[in-house]
Amino acid sequence: MSRTIPLEKDIIFGPVDSRRLGVSIGINLLPTNKKICSYNCLYCFYGYTPKITEVEWSNLLPPKNKIFSSIDRLVEQITLGLIKPDFITFAGNGEPTLHPDFPEIVDYLLSKISILNNKPGTALFTDATTFASNVILNASAKLDQTLVKIDLVDEETYQFLNRPFKYIKIKEIAQRIFALPNLRVQTAVVKINGNIYTDDVLDYYISLIKICDPIQVQLYNIIYPTAKKGLEEVSDGDLQKLKLILEKQIKTKIVIF
Ligand code: SF4
Repeated sequence: MSRTIPLEKDIIFGPVDSRRLGVSIGINLLPTNKKICSYNCLYCFYGYTPKITEVEWSNLLPPKNKIFSSIDRLVEQITLGLIKPDFITFAGNGEPTLHPDFPEIVDYLLSKISILNNKPGTALFTDATTFASNVILNASAKLDQTLVKIDLVDEETYQFLNRPFKYIKIKEIAQRIFALPNLRVQTAVVKINGNIYTDDVLDYYISLIKICDPIQVQLYNIIYPTAKKGLEEVSDGDLQKLKLILEKQIKTKIVIF
């Protein structure tokens, strides 16, 4: 039996009852047979990220015209009242912004849903490793919510837990996403070697949040099967305690999902 959950099988997936966004329809810009991500998080519910070259994975991506057709069908279903999503969300089998046509696809989606009476919100789940590109940053800013993964880490824990494929500092990411007006930070809280965090890690994490200054910080527990065996869940009480500590030091709203 697989320890992790299967990949999404199509470009459009759901509806998903999202803890953050309500009824959400996903748009998966990545292949349906392989996870493609700039991270290889120990807790990923899709399992480990395969090691393949950029040329190899580029050839596996769905072409933009196929994505446009899928969006057309989705909007038709919403128009006919067959589905009523609260949100349409770029998510799925890895990091959505690795698709080279991501900015064009965002524009296409926004123009298609602009005529809907019950226009759903739009969101992106991202690790923001591609946000050195202003084109990608600007495309993300057009959505209602950009949810960027910054876990409870310092630089060393970041390399250990999220394992970015190209060397990058999490501080650089925090500095880039500061420009986003729709920024939410999502923070997985994981027990590593029996500890949730050390004082140094907590201080560094707080400095990251102060740098990027999001609208909201979302703390969440890992409650699903993970790529690495034996990662321990933190308790609800641990999350509440952490929230109280953060609230004393950060003016941003902190929520637990
Ligand atoms: S960023 Fe998300 S999809 Fe990528 S490895 Fe981490 S948890 Fe998995």
